[in-house]
Formats: sequence, structure tokens, C-alpha cells
Amino acid sequence: MDFTLLEQNVLIAKGLTAEQLNQLAAIGVRAKSDFSTIGDVATLLEVMPALDPAVAAKVMEWAVGAAAAPRPQATTETAKMIIDSADAIYCTHCNARQPKDYKTGDLCPSCGKQAEPVQSCYWCANSGPGKFCRGCGAEFVPLAEYELAVLLKREGVAKDDIARRLKAMDQAEKDSLWSRSRRIHG
Ligand SMILES: [Zn+2]
Ligand SMILES: [Zn+2]
Repeated sequence: MDFTLLEQNVLIAKGLTAEQLNQLAAIGVRAKSDFSTIGDVATLLEVMPALDPAVAAKVMEWAVGAAAAPRPQATTETAKMIIDSADAIYCTHCNARQPKDYKTGDLCPSCGKQAEPVQSCYWCANSGPGKFCRGCGAEFVPLAEYELAVLLKREGVAKDDIARRLKAMDQAEKDSLWSRSRRIHG
């Protein structure tokens, strides 16, 4: 065990058991800097599968900080969008409500995954995290509706209307759009 007493106490405060501290030492994690080698929460969970994801997220946040969660350059545009999206952010994996200071790219404190995974833009084919495309500003749609969004684009629906149109559609309307899409693709 090469962690300093303080580091051990911090790790225990983050939720690690003494046994898990020994496991970390056994796989070669013996100092705070070794967590940077691990790099991110997902990798920590790969080498320590028994670890609670929430604990893993807290440990990585302490040890590596923002580096564990790559976030976009804080352009004034993205900063503005963060302020604009005043409504609460929920994790797409476990539905946990994200903290008030949530920023795009942050890991969910509940499950340790990226609360908002990187998405592809149906409009300009850029990809990125968050609610809006950083390439063209289009609002992302759920992955399952990506093709529908592409179809709406082809049909001439304006960029700013696509996400809104999809949200307003009921299942029957989506189904009929799907069948049109299948006809187009053969
Ligand atoms: Zn989550
Ligand atoms: Zn785009």
C-alpha cells in the first residue's frame, strides 16, 4: 500500500472499502497519479468490475477531475446553450437527475456513464454530446428517431422544426413515417 494516509482516507470517504483499496494496489494502482493512467470511469470499472459505478465516478472525479469527462471547448455559443437549457438534465442511462452545475459531457453521479452520450447530427453529420449539434445548432433527437429525422430533412422540413415535429408526433404518425422511409429505401 503506497497511498498516503490522506489519500487512503479520501478514497474510503469516496466509498471504497479497505479490501477494494488492497485490490487497487494489487492491480498496480498505488498513487493518485495512477488513476490518470486509468483515464476514465469506464476503464476503472473494467479493471475493478466489482466496484460500484457511482463510487468509481466519485473516485475518478477526485483523482483525475475534468480530464475523466472530456468536455467541449467552452465557446460562448455552448456556454449560452448551457444557460438556455434551464430545464433539468436526466441521465439517458439511469434517468437520474443531474446536479445543478451539470455541464455537457459530465458523468452521471448515479451510474458513472456519460449522462448525455455523444450523438450524430441528422442535419450536418457532425457529432457531439449534449442537446444541440455544435456544428449547426440542430437539436438532437433520440437515437431511435435518427432515421426519421433524416427523412424529415429530405422532405424539406426546416432544421429548427425537426426535433419539435418528432416530439409532437404520436406513435401512429411515426409508424407511417417509418413505412414511408422503408418504401424509399426499398
Ligand atoms: Zn446515470
Ligand atoms: Zn448538425
